[in-house]
This record gives sequence, structure tokens and C-alpha cells, in this order.
Amino acid sequence: MSVPTGSARRTTDADVDALRKALRGPLIDASHADYDAARRVWNGNIDRRPQLIARCTCIEDVQAAVNFARHTGIHLSVRGGGHSAPGYGTNDDGLVIDLSPMKDITVDKANETVKAEGGVLWGELDAATQAFGLATTGGTVSNTGIGGLALGGGLGWLMGKHGLVIDNLLAADVVTANGDRHHASVTENPDLFWAIRGGGGNFGVVTSFEFQLHPVSTVLGGMVLYPLDQAGDVLRFYRDFCLTLPDEATCFAALLTAPMGMPVAALLVGYNGPIEEGEAIFAPARAFGTPLADLVAPMPYVARQSLLDAPNAQHGLHRYWRSAFAERVSDAMIDAFIEGAGRFTSPLSAIVFFLMHGKAARRDPEETAFSARRVMWDVDVIGQWEDGTTSAEHIAWVRDVWAKAAPHMLDTIYLNHVASDDKPETIRASFGSNYKRLREIKAQYDPANMFQHNANIPPASA
Ligand SMILES: Cc1cc2nc3c(=O)[nH]c(=O)nc-3n(C[C@H](O)[C@H](O)[C@H](O)COP(=O)(O)OP(=O)(O)OC[C@H]3O[C@@H](n4cnc5c(N)ncnc54)[C@H](O)[C@@H]3O)c2cc1C
Repeated sequence: MSVPTGSARRTTDADVDALRKALRGPLIDASHADYDAARRVWNGNIDRRPQLIARCTCIEDVQAAVNFARHTGIHLSVRGGGHSAPGYGTNDDGLVIDLSPMKDITVDKANETVKAEGGVLWGELDAATQAFGLATTGGTVSNTGIGGLALGGGLGWLMGKHGLVIDNLLAADVVTANGDRHHASVTENPDLFWAIRGGGGNFGVVTSFEFQLHPVSTVLGGMVLYPLDQAGDVLRFYRDFCLTLPDEATCFAALLTAPMGMPVAALLVGYNGPIEEGEAIFAPARAFGTPLADLVAPMPYVARQSLLDAPNAQHGLHRYWRSAFAERVSDAMIDAFIEGAGRFTSPLSAIVFFLMHGKAARRDPEETAFSARRVMWDVDVIGQWEDGTTSAEHIAWVRDVWAKAAPHMLDTIYLNHVASDDKPETIRASFGSNYKRLREIKAQYDPANMFQHNANIPPASA
């Protein structure tokens, strides 16, 4: 999906002045000292120059910015944590609604819920809820935004036991394209609530989220690393072993470069229950083959939530990412990936298998907008590198590995992992049988498709 650029018409100085006066937060343009920092997102390979960046501090700021976009016709991006790999959180010549100043978090200990504003990052939410011994399913890298991750579904270490992030979403406040604010829950605006649970940022700007929390304390987590010459056996073991695990146990796998500088296979494990129980359940994985290192240990939940931060949390590295769902991890797929890992063009790149399982995989596909409700892998080839002048080499590596592995995967994708070159047909297929209803709800709340910098759902035609 390419990102549309340019304004439908030029904004006038009077338009911009009126917006500046309406906002409590700063309105940043190219003359502002913070412009270069404010326009950048997590992916350093995205180098776009918006006309205006509205740093929103409250729901009224968001309403003013949405109204400005509707009146002027300027292209609009919404940014939470800025982690969208294709750079949906920015644009050329348009307006960015930057939610990063909106950081309020309120934990209701008695009811085990949390309300958090749209600019909160997962590390911030986890720290606030863990102060009360509570947590909800959240992203595996601590500086991903709660906004984009939640609206697309939300996979994380707790998904087997507690479902996806959206399965823990109780309510949200949404500013829609007409500038109105709506409270959405199962009882209020239920269609909107259904659509934002998996439909991404298509329906408006979510200014706050309310999540169900669960008691979570010390957890088991970490990695077992194997040399690449054992990777074939390890991944074959992995694909069978992880299908035998209870909901409390989550097991991902990756091919990456170890700190010692050589490519390795890694089993990434997490257990959400008594530590001794987790130790027993993961004993076969830790006893398999001849590991280079076993780094699995009890740890605070927030430590496991940042285990994958290096180098993935680092803003400004250059990235290119391809992804798809796979119902099975075939021998041919394993062989293609190991061959690719043997010629990583960057030590920061990785190939990752995230298993959708347990409670996350058992809900009815039409109960929320997230239709991918069955046990399957979200497989990702992630190119990451430091030097932007070498991008062509690394992008070519991802495309080549992907071309060999893709025939062994489904033609659907976890929509939070969509790439700039994924086709609209892939997005349509990935919404499955929910697509028609999503288009109808889109027509109701965003008939002009103002919110289109995302895995886009075109409004149903009248
Ligand atoms: C390092 C890294 C780790 C990741 N780990 C996980 C993981 O563990 N689990 C997982 O499920 N996904 C993961 N992802 C994918 C992630 O869910 C998506 O990239 C997500 O879109 C990021 O959200 P964001 O708010 O940080 O991004 P942004 O770039 O700010 O936004 C992404 C999209 O969401 C929209 N959006 C964001 N906030 C709002 C809002 N409040 N209201 C309306 N629209 C909004 C934006 O308009 C844009 O279309 C990861 C991505 C990265 C880069």
C-alpha cells in the first residue's frame, strides 16, 4: 500500500493561524526549530516532510486538527508511537496529528482496569499497571505505541492466556472525521467499537483506551540460542513443540545475529503462571540439541516486555519489513529462511515466527473486526540497518528471502505488519468475512476516507 502524498488544495495562512490559535499544543511547520525531530518516525528509511505537525495535548486539540483537515482537504496522518514500518504516522505535505503529548494513565486497582491516552507507549503502560501487580496483553517492544498496536489487534506474550490486546479493550474515546467525539464500548456505539477492534486507524482518532487488567507478577522468559547449523532441527522441533503448549506458555522463534556476531536460531519463551510449572513445561525446549546459551530465567514482567528492545526499539535505524500468516511451518519455508539467515546483509536483521495461539485464536472471527482467529504463525522478515546509503542492498535481501518463502505462506497478513508494497487485495483478504461490514461502518464514520494512511478500508459506496 503506497502512502498518498500532497494536499488536495493548499491551505491558506489564515487557515493555519486559526488552527494554531485553536490548539493548546504547538503546531510545528518547516520553520520550527523542532521540525526535523518532529517529522521523523521509528523507521529511518521514511523521510517525509509534512506541512504541519499538530502536537495534540487533549481531545479538543484532536478535534481542532481533524476539523482543519476536513475543511482544508489536506492529507492527514495520525501518529501514536510512530512504529508503523511503512510510515503511516507521517506524510509529505500533509498534516500529522501527533498524539505523543497525550500520556495520561489512570489505573483503577479495585476494578483491575486502566485508562490510557493515545500517546502512551507500551513501556509506560506496563510500568503504571505493574505498580499495582497488574498487566494486560501488550506489545513485545516497549516503545511501540498502544494506539496503532491495539487498533490492529495486538499480539503479545500474554495473548495465549488473556487474548489479544483488543480482547482486553473495554471502551475507547474516538474523534471521527466530522470532528465529533464518541464513546465506544459493547453498549455505546457498538458498531464503532466492533470496527476499531482490528480495523486499525480507519475510523477516527482514538484519544483514550480502557483495558481490562490481570494480576501478573514475576514471569519466566528469555531465549535459548543455537548455532545456525542446528537451526533446521531447532525450527522443526519448534513448530511441533509449540502446538502442544498450554495457554499460559508462549513460544516464538527467530533467526538473528547473536552478540558474538554469528547467525543463530533462537527460541523465545514466556510462561505466565507459577515459575516451577513454566520450568517444567519448557524443559524439553531447553534440553533440545546443544544450545550455545540458555538465557531463560524468572524476571519481572516489565523486563520480559523489553527483552526484544535491542535493536528493535531504536528510532532512526533504516527498516524494510515483509510479513504474512502461515498455517504451518513447512520444511521448505524453514530451508528458505535458514539459507537467508546464512547471508544476512546486516547483523540487525531478523526472521521471526510469532505464534497466534490460546485465547487469542479461539474467538469467533466475526466477534471483532480481527478475523484471523486460528492457530497460525505471523512470520516476519525484518531488514534493519544503520547506513541509509546502503538501503538497496538490504531491501534486496529481504525481497529475495521473501520471494523464496512466500509461496509457503498464506495470502493474508497481520495488518499491523503490512508493508508499503503489499497490495490492496492482500489487505482485503486479511479482513476476511469482516471486510463488507467494515466498509459499511467506514462509510458511516469516514465517508470521504480522511483516515487513509493505514491498512486502508475504502468506504462502501452509497
Ligand atoms: C519494533 C516493533 C515491535 C512491534 N511489536 C509488536 C508486537 O509485539 N505486537 C504487535 O501486535 N505488533 C507489534 N508491532 C507492530 C505494531 O503493532 C504496528 O507497527 C503499530 O501500527 C504501531 O503502532 P504505533 O502507534 O507505534 O505506530 P504509528 O506509526 O504511530 O501508527 C500506526 C498506525 O496506527 C494509527 N494510529 C496510531 N495511533 C492511533 C490512534 N490513537 N487513533 C487512531 N489511529 C492511530 C496510525 O494512523 C497509523 O495508521 C511492532 C512494530 C515494531 C516496529
